[in-house]
Amino acid sequence: MITILRLGHRPARDKRVTTHVALAARAFGADRVLVSTRDPGLERTVHEVVRKFGGPFEIETGVAWKKVLREWRGTKVHLTMYGLPLDEILPRIPRDDLLVVVGAEKVPAEVFDLADVNVAVGNQPHSEVAALAVFLDRLLGGAGIRRILRGRIEIAPSPRSKLVRERAE
Ligand code: SAM
Repeated sequence: MITILRLGHRPARDKRVTTHVALAARAFGADRVLVSTRDPGLERTVHEVVRKFGGPFEIETGVAWKKVLREWRGTKVHLTMYGLPLDEILPRIPRDDLLVVVGAEKVPAEVFDLADVNVAVGNQPHSEVAALAVFLDRLLGGAGIRRILRGRIEIAPSPRSKLVRERAE
């Protein structure tokens, strides 16, 4: 079970990026995303993608992030450019009951202490979506994007055209 904790979401400004955090999490092999700020619109958007393209994947918004971090029983990884190199840390990260924390703007300092490990996907600033995708892909050895998720719609790989099949419900 891999859970993503998205901190600092501001519904008016971050809707698109947080939606992409959730979609990248789902596509690259995570099971659910927790968002610190309540945002029913974001929940609806993600539920619709899951209905259309398949699941299982869950989203919960308005979570008490400090409580989640304090009470988490598995491993807590915070993705930050200030952390230790991904390649060095990866062999020591268990795959089950993992919480992966990503920020938006400045992450509260206590997150660095509450996490078991602060991990950098390179030490250059980029994006929570990029950091999450690379982290999950390396962690799962590409297995996340190879899964077949069954939804209403299925894409058939094609060299040139868009081949979409609709599944009868
Ligand atoms: N300047 C911000 C800070 O002090 O944390 C970084 C904001 S960045 C736009 C948003 C999030 O992307 C960060 O909280 C972190 O989770 C992730 N991120 C950005 N670059 C990263 C990197 N090189 N390695 C790991 N995570 C990164």
